[in-house]
Amino acid sequence: MAGSNPEALFSLIPSVDKILFHPKIQRLLSVYSSTFVKHIVTSTLNDLRNSIRKNQLTQENLNFDSVVDRICVVAERRLRPNLLTLVNATGVVVHTNLGRSPLSRKVAERILEVATSYSNLEYDLEKGSRGQRNSHLNSLIEELTGAQAVLAVNNNAAAVLLALGTLAKGKEVIVSRGELIEIGGSFRIPEVMAQSGAILREVGATNRTHPRDYVQAINENTALILKVHTSNYRIIGFTREISLDELVKIGREYNLPTMMDLGSGCLVDLSPFGLPDEVTVQEVIAKGIDIVSFSGDKLLGGPQAGILVGEKDYISLMGANPLARALRMDKLTLAGLEATLQEYISQAGPTGSIPTLAMIGKSSDELMIDAQEIAQVLESELRGQAQISVEQGIGRVGGGALPMSDLVGPRVSIRPTVFSAARLENSLRKGDPPVITIVKEGSVLIDPRTLLDNQAQIIPGLIVEAFKRIKN
Ligand SMILES: *Cc1c(COP(=O)(O)O)cnc(C)c1O
Repeated sequence: MAGSNPEALFSLIPSVDKILFHPKIQRLLSVYSSTFVKHIVTSTLNDLRNSIRKNQLTQENLNFDSVVDRICVVAERRLRPNLLTLVNATGVVVHTNLGRSPLSRKVAERILEVATSYSNLEYDLEKGSRGQRNSHLNSLIEELTGAQAVLAVNNNAAAVLLALGTLAKGKEVIVSRGELIEIGGSFRIPEVMAQSGAILREVGATNRTHPRDYVQAINENTALILKVHTSNYRIIGFTREISLDELVKIGREYNLPTMMDLGSGCLVDLSPFGLPDEVTVQEVIAKGIDIVSFSGDKLLGGPQAGILVGEKDYISLMGANPLARALRMDKLTLAGLEATLQEYISQAGPTGSIPTLAMIGKSSDELMIDAQEIAQVLESELRGQAQISVEQGIGRVGGGALPMSDLVGPRVSIRPTVFSAARLENSLRKGDPPVITIVKEGSVLIDPRTLLDNQAQIIPGLIVEAFKRIKN
């Protein structure tokens, strides 16, 4: 009986020395450091002792080969990266929890080149002396947005923090009550404001803010008027927000800088893909807003970044703030961002070459081919174990980027017959690679829109494996 005589079981645990001589452990020692291997051996033996104390082990668990195999499994698990690549079958294109925008191979190769070499990151090749990390994006950004200057930092939260901390520390920033948003996780306008040392001056009501509300709030301590894209929610019905024209007019009349936190920061018109007319960065700049901030890894489709563009004087002040040093972008991101922006000036345009935009742009017909192929393989492989169908569904752009706008397209619905959809969803997550899905009304849904490269071909196999794991 398990645990009936713990003392006898303890004495069965092999010695460390004996284990180290086992051929399988010798193989581990030929690849990994002896410190690492010995640590895995001793910690696994400690776990075994704890399990004996809890009456969880039998004599068979303690035979020499089982113990060695257990050590090999632990070692292998430890050597696997913890940050895994996975299959996003949710249809949410810019999924913050799943790493937002995947990059193209071309952009990733640019990152690889810069990563494995020295570069002119902060070196002026003309003058042969120290240069500016931020100079590399200047001409591209000017070309694409019409803005005079650019400063790229770690992410958009950092960009907003830096802008507020530079232009409005100890002073008031006017924001509409309808725009005091929280973007998933920890970005909240009032909290970023507090962190920056700026004083929030809320105006208007949740659903309606008028130009006069802004004007009435202006006093000698006002430093900035901020407008925020209400990325992940909408107020509908009886609403009023200030237009960019009105905002610029007030800023000029009272000699105050104006800023827009655009969130997603799109550079192309997405209405041909059936998405609502989203204001682009260049349009906001053309309206005369002084500073615009946006993310690099939302609709732009690049690496994580926060990009500040606008009036040279303001951007220079931000660059000179010591905070800019703490929030600065690293060279790998810079390489990826530059390569991403270059796609926007390429002859073919960005919609084919930037994965995020390509996924948004996939047509229902294109997606239907993938959906039907996946469904067909599953029909034959899972006969009797699940009902398979293809249905019209609604994906999301996500990521605080046009989240209210729907991406209509087909999805494969899998309704297991003998266990719940939740169990299948769980099993899919445990696969190699893991597959992330959405469960709806007793079915697991597979949206082909967010499948990359050859994933539409491998996903039926991964689903069949997930069924097998549940049966075993
Ligand atoms: C997403 C978003 C942010 C935060 O951007 P990160 O790049 O995630 O730091 C800030 N403001 C708005 C309006 C957003 O949509």
